[in-house]
Amino acid sequence: MEAVSPIDDIIRVMEKRFGKKLEVTSKIRSAHAQAKAMFPHFETDSTTISSYASHKKPWIEEIRKAFKAGKAKNEFPTDIVRRMSTVIDIQIANNKLISNHLSNSARDIRVRNFSSQEISTLVALLKGVREIVVLDETKTAQPHIHIHLK
Ligand SMILES: [Zn+2]
Repeated sequence: MEAVSPIDDIIRVMEKRFGKKLEVTSKIRSAHAQAKAMFPHFETDSTTISSYASHKKPWIEEIRKAFKAGKAKNEFPTDIVRRMSTVIDIQIANNKLISNHLSNSARDIRVRNFSSQEISTLVALLKGVREIVVLDETKTAQPHIHIHLK
C-alpha cells in the first residue's frame, strides 16, 4: 500500500539536487506504530521527545501518563504500547496530531550512509524548501532527517 503525498515530490526534487538517492524510512504511521516509536524514547528519557513542537508538549504528557501507568503496574512493553496507542487514537479523533507521520505529511530520510559533509549539505538543501519543516535527528540513535509539510 503506497500512500502518495506532495512531500514525495519534494523529496524527488531534493534527490536530484543532492545527487544521491534518498531513502525514506518512515512514511504514514498508525497510532500503534507511533506509540511503538515513542516507547524507547520514554524509556531512556531521550532528547527526541524534547524536540517536539511546544504546542505538542501537553499531548506528550498525556502519552507519558499512559506509559507511566503501565510501568507502575509492571506491564509488558506490548501492553504499555497499547495504552499509549489508545491515548494517541483519542488525540487523533480530537485533531491533535502528535506526529505529522499520522497524517501522511511527514517523511524520515535515512542518513546512515552519508558523510557529515553530505548531511550538512542535505539539511541545508531541505531547509531551503519553504513548504516543509526540517528536524535534524542525525545525532540520535536512529540517525535521520525528519521533514513534514507546513
Ligand atoms: Zn519523522
